[in-house]
Amino acid sequence: MNTHEIINEEKIEHLLEVGKKAGKEEVLDIIEKARDYDGLTLEEAAILLQIEDKDVLEKLFDTARFIKEEIYGNRIVIFAPLYTSNECTNNCLYCGFRVANKELHRRTLSPDEVVQEAKAIEHQGHKRILMVCGEDPKKTHINHITDAVSAVYKNADIRRINVNAAPMPVEDFKKLKAVGIGTFQIFQETYHRETYKKMHPTGFKADYDYRLTAIERAFEAGIDDFGIGALLGLYDYKFDVLATLMHSQYMDDLYNVGPHTISVPRLRPALGSGLEETPYPINDEEFKKIIAVYRLTLPYTGIILSTREAAYLRDELLSLGVSQISAGSRTNPGGYEEDDREATQFETSDERSLDEMLQVVCEQGHLPSFCTACYRANRTGEAFMELAKDAHIHEFCQPNAILTFKENLVQFASDQTKEKGEKMIEKELEKIDDKKVKEETLKRIKRIEEGEKDLY
Ligand code: SAM
Ligand code: SF4
Repeated sequence: MNTHEIINEEKIEHLLEVGKKAGKEEVLDIIEKARDYDGLTLEEAAILLQIEDKDVLEKLFDTARFIKEEIYGNRIVIFAPLYTSNECTNNCLYCGFRVANKELHRRTLSPDEVVQEAKAIEHQGHKRILMVCGEDPKKTHINHITDAVSAVYKNADIRRINVNAAPMPVEDFKKLKAVGIGTFQIFQETYHRETYKKMHPTGFKADYDYRLTAIERAFEAGIDDFGIGALLGLYDYKFDVLATLMHSQYMDDLYNVGPHTISVPRLRPALGSGLEETPYPINDEEFKKIIAVYRLTLPYTGIILSTREAAYLRDELLSLGVSQISAGSRTNPGGYEEDDREATQFETSDERSLDEMLQVVCEQGHLPSFCTACYRANRTGEAFMELAKDAHIHEFCQPNAILTFKENLVQFASDQTKEKGEKMIEKELEKIDDKKVKEETLKRIKRIEEGEKDLY
């Protein structure tokens, strides 16, 4: 399909204009309808994006919390990013890694160095990694990524590696598939062509269409688990959120699979950035609205929140619809061993360690999960979505969350985290109705206490 039809700018603008005219009753009806968690249309999402009334916004947030609880329970999946290289030939104005930033300390890790980083992440207690790198054909080519992925799977107890990298040809996606990545993540940054052009003046990334069609090439190569998102703050958020939903709908129509995850990166200050200020600043209230609209429109798509956001806000967003968070993150290659500020991509905001984060997650009544079972049991793409829509996913997720959290507590947690975590696990066990599942989970907990690992 012509890429102008995949992301139809005129249609987006039209829907947003029509959305402004909706009356309060109509808006409330849409919010009510979303409680059936069947998702919403683009027209309906456009109407919700226009909400300004505080009471109506509260209703929207309530419904987001309701859907989150019904579909994901109180589980929060936790991961850490691993930057393998900050070398990049692109010139994205907002990014510290851009080629024009001559001050940046550049570094590309060897597979051994990547393993050292993965081990440092593992020793914090993580099981999931998101591998990230700049785009430099000589340094971060496909072999750099696949060697890094294979080395980590082989030498560290990391059970799922997702990748966020530049778009590539089908042959390279096949290589990524062959080394067993989880989700392939790629953000369009902004779907607004004119803004995209300004933000990406030179380099391969200047090609909007090649980026937009990356997921289709990934599918062709057999990768059916993908994540998308817009970098919030580059252009009008209403446009970019609706465009992200349009992209998602296009993929769903084409392959019967929507995105596994949507990320909500909000623009952060970066050393050496080419932007003096955020072009379209987004306040916290608007940010919450964005997450809620995603939650109502795509109830079965995971929402990822990174440490770009401040601690106080992250805590609130957990209940609003977010299903995955990163914790204890570094955004420079080698950062888990040595924190070099002059090698970072952007400034993180939430600096809490994983151990601290686990306490906060428990205190707020959420269950941390390090589960990677679906991916390892081949429950990905369409198979995952069908299971999720049937609500059967709970039968796997709840015990697996408990067991993987237990493993973390036994091996890595501080005394305080252990205390809070054990209480949380006790409460969660009470919620398992199926007698057999409960007995089996208790047996496995015992085995983990005796030193066994990776039971799912
Ligand atoms: N280089 C590849 C690319 O651009 O697709 C892969 C990873 S890039 C390091 C990861 C993401 O970081 C980008 O897609 C962008 O959305 C985000 N990012 C870049 N600069 C940022 C900033 N200043 N604040 C927040 N997020 C930023
Ligand atoms: Fe390079 Fe990605 Fe940063 Fe752009 S966002 S400069 S492609 S690392």
